[in-house]
Amino acid sequence: MRMERGEELAGRLQTIRERMARASEGRYPLPKVLAVTKTHTPEEILPLRDAGILEIGENRVQEIREKLPFLKDFFQIHLIGQLQSNKVKYIIEDVCLIHSLDRLSLAMEIDRQAQRHGRVMPVLVQVSPVGEPQKGGILPEEVLPFLRQVRQLPGLRVEGLMAVMPNLEDREQLSGLFAGMRALFERVRGEGIDGVEMRELSMGMSGDYDLAAAHGATLVRIGSALLGPRG
Ligand SMILES: *Cc1c(COP(=O)(O)O)cnc(C)c1O
Repeated sequence: MRMERGEELAGRLQTIRERMARASEGRYPLPKVLAVTKTHTPEEILPLRDAGILEIGENRVQEIREKLPFLKDFFQIHLIGQLQSNKVKYIIEDVCLIHSLDRLSLAMEIDRQAQRHGRVMPVLVQVSPVGEPQKGGILPEEVLPFLRQVRQLPGLRVEGLMAVMPNLEDREQLSGLFAGMRALFERVRGEGIDGVEMRELSMGMSGDYDLAAAHGATLVRIGSALLGPRG
């Protein structure tokens, strides 16, 4: 059973990688695939190991807490969803990257909790390419000032940017937004802000990972195209 599921997942992963390679035509290195495992059970998630996946993304603190005992020995866990400051303490020891930093109060709480646990928390700044506050994220023009505010917090280290794209039918328009994110990423990198690294650009999901790869994502967050529809 376990091996069959692993083979199925490996096949889907290969399809995803081939599609990304065709779309990017060698302009950028292939992004890493982060398997988004929200709503899936540990039994469904564990076979990802057989497909060579070592990192998974979850979007809810509560769900991470529940699944952690079954997954922590096998995977590194990324927090990709919006995060309330009062919940930082529940995940600070258990996740390897927080993708959703988008306000100073959250940065300060991550800093406080990380220092308390003697670690430096890697984070990505979430950008909202078209300003959709309900999805979280700051506007592109706010990124540089925000980075200058958080760069001196010793308990966190900014390692890049993350974006959740709007639901657009128009792939040309989506392409433009991905290109804009890559340009922003490079502009910020060019600023060389002390204490800020720009090595990860987390963008692209099941419906648009090919476009994200074509525009220089370094991490794509893929749920349904890999694990099947959510229950
Ligand atoms: C669920 C989720 C994804 C993956 O979505 P799919 O369309 O299933 O690939 C990616 N990023 C975030 C922030 C998510 O919440």
